[in-house]
Amino acid sequence: MSAEPKLINPSEIKISQTKMLIDGKWVDSASGKTFETINPATGEVIAHVAEGDREDVDRAVRAARKAFEEGPWRKMSARERGRCLYRLADLIEKHFDELAALETLNNGKPINESRSADLPLTIECYRYYAGWADKIEGKTIPINGPFFTYTRHEPVGVVGQIIPWNFPLLMQAWKWGPALAAGCTIVLKPAEQTPLTALRVGELALEAGIPEGVVNIVPGFGETAGAAVAEHMDIDKVAFTGSTEVGKLIMQAAGRSNLKRVTLELGGKSPNIVFADSDLDAALEGAFQGLFFNQGQCCCAGSRLFVEKNVYDDFAQKLVERSRKQVVGDPFDPKTTQGPQVSQEQFDKIMDYIRSGKEQGAKLLTGGNRVGSCGFFIEPTIFADVGEDMKIAREEIFGPVLSMIPFKDVDEVIARGNRTMYGLAAAVWTKDINKAHRLAAELKAGTVWINCYDVFDTAAPFGGFKMSGIGRELGSYALENYTEVKTVTVAL
Ligand code: NAD
Repeated sequence: MSAEPKLINPSEIKISQTKMLIDGKWVDSASGKTFETINPATGEVIAHVAEGDREDVDRAVRAARKAFEEGPWRKMSARERGRCLYRLADLIEKHFDELAALETLNNGKPINESRSADLPLTIECYRYYAGWADKIEGKTIPINGPFFTYTRHEPVGVVGQIIPWNFPLLMQAWKWGPALAAGCTIVLKPAEQTPLTALRVGELALEAGIPEGVVNIVPGFGETAGAAVAEHMDIDKVAFTGSTEVGKLIMQAAGRSNLKRVTLELGGKSPNIVFADSDLDAALEGAFQGLFFNQGQCCCAGSRLFVEKNVYDDFAQKLVERSRKQVVGDPFDPKTTQGPQVSQEQFDKIMDYIRSGKEQGAKLLTGGNRVGSCGFFIEPTIFADVGEDMKIAREEIFGPVLSMIPFKDVDEVIARGNRTMYGLAAAVWTKDINKAHRLAAELKAGTVWINCYDVFDTAAPFGGFKMSGIGRELGSYALENYTEVKTVTVAL
């Protein structure tokens, strides 16, 4: 890893892998089809990637099943499995510059953020779960009678993992880390928008000594390759991150097929609540970054900004001033703080939401337009006086669009903060410790940040209440998703 990011010419970034990984081999899709992957900063094609479908998923599942039942993975000692994960983390670190550049090229996120957030968090995640591999323990249980009862926490088996495009490397790590530590084998379907870093990590996984068939990667589209994973009769568990709409389809497919275990990490419309008695400068930065980080493409984005009435106007004005400092442009320029949205489709969807905000009478304080004429760039956009029934206050926008809502008191803001089908995250800014803990207890969200936002750690669980998901990722909690508990009773 170099200390300073060098200015990178995207055309010089090496694309080492565009095929799919099945049973330790890089292969074309059964149909021979490929799809284009796009540079969102220019709209140009970067590469053609093998397009997986049902038959490829079948082949990948057969490889994963064999590696699970017969292969060296399950028979390998837990500690050796952990060593494979440590080696993978080391290899990602060794290729830090290359992977950061590839992530920025395919996703559009600013190179400084790939380097300061995505890569370090990815490496930490693999190291953290490497450490868990030999610490997954059962219990001995004192039941009645002359019996000895204990539990074994066994790997759940072959797991299907479907991930989104907003943090491609990190979402792969959140899925692979606990699954591999627990001893499962994997069929991963990366997002069609951003397959490139997943494939590169597949190469590094083989180099790290993860045996053939343990990790398989089938790039392709959701309705084909993704659906084939969700419906497969020989996948024991599916883990999905993406939209709530598709999350429902995944559960239905699991119900229709083999009742595979399901964990879901879905959308959000998180309330970020600023009280007048908070450190308002810190709250301002938290409100800004809490929404605009990663071009607003975060499931936990603080997209409903509640600000106490007596500081609301001043706060709004300062937020607009803050947004002027945002540098929108070439994601490879180290000065850039906001890159393009990931795709034309996302760009169009966000512009529709901006139109709807204006039509429904929200006050546009700043932004609202496209930036430049190529690529998918949008100005940081702030709406004030957003009514709770407006579309922009209810639906996940997944873009650089912040909605400000004034509030009067604690009871009111708790009720309004909770008035959503989502429950992924929330934040509270106040110096009053009683108020802070009351809101932490009463907000229906999987994560509540107090006087901070977007603080992630691989040891701290993350996931949603209500329609934001099922199950928790990260920390020791994630291991539960990948293990079955077996009770063994022996007559004494
Ligand atoms: P999506 O849910 O359609 O895609 C996420 C993943 O699911 C991708 O790998 C996709 O190929 C796959 N998928 C899609 N349809 C599928 C199906 N029928 N069966 C199985 N897999 C399927 O999300 P998107 O279309 O890329 O983005 C749409 C919206 O989803 C965004 O605007 C945003 O609101 C939300 N989103 C949320 C997250 C998150 O982290 N929670 C991430 C990405 C997108």
